Amino acid sequence: MLHVLRSPRFTLPVVAVAMFGFASLAVAGNKTAKVKDAWGNEVEVQGYDDGKNEGSQWFVHDPERPQPPLADKKDIKPNLNAPPPKGAIVIFDGKSMNAKAKWKVENGYAEVQGGGLTTYESFGSAHFHIEWAAPKEVKGNGQGRGNSGIIIMGKYEIQVLDNYKNATYPDGMAGSVYGQNPPKFNASVPPGEWNSYDITFLAPKFKDGKLVRPASVTVIWNGVNVQASYELVGVVSHRKPTKYVPHAEKLPLHIQDHGNPVRFRNIWVTPLEE
Ligand code: MG
Repeated sequence: MLHVLRSPRFTLPVVAVAMFGFASLAVAGNKTAKVKDAWGNEVEVQGYDDGKNEGSQWFVHDPERPQPPLADKKDIKPNLNAPPPKGAIVIFDGKSMNAKAKWKVENGYAEVQGGGLTTYESFGSAHFHIEWAAPKEVKGNGQGRGNSGIIIMGKYEIQVLDNYKNATYPDGMAGSVYGQNPPKFNASVPPGEWNSYDITFLAPKFKDGKLVRPASVTVIWNGVNVQASYELVGVVSHRKPTKYVPHAEKLPLHIQDHGNPVRFRNIWVTPLEE
């Protein structure tokens, strides 16, 4: 925040935030770029240039970061209705919710409303299977279209977003580790259709308050490997460079309410013994 205040060109936004709140700034971004999206269309992407994560050449939410290419159509094979294997903990089976959430449950899916979902159970290293669909009725653009998020341990977000012909900063698109790493491919299906995430997450390890092993994640989005054992550099962070904050070995899974009626079904978690 000091860094922001020191910079004279932020004077106006800072005053605007004081007067109108954060939302007015969050919509605009402070760096825009004209880029080609994965479909080859020229689009304007709004993002930020506040700072860089350690080891990265890009700003957090850098709109100039290359847009991931489209996955091959033949490779996009959503893993739908995958039955929970033995030992899995079912969070949502289409009818009953094994978590705190005020979501609307109907026709075998749950629709985000009234806050996020937080599991009763806590998880460390685990495999997460999640099926989700962005609203069929397209509203908004960029980060405002079908936004939710799989926030593992309540701290590490795999973004959920409608990126079908909707570009945003690549480290904030679907399949990204939010604020850190874009997916290798854009494996989007059209809004209203079901996506699958199969996420294998190895929890970070801390000893005496210090990080001894970073978290790592593999994300299979609609059958396409988009994050291959990516080592996270810290907890989820918006605009600001991130870092680790020591925490418990196991924590609940959270699924985000970002104000869009994203639908979910068939959510289960298999804890991994290391
Ligand atoms: Mg999100």
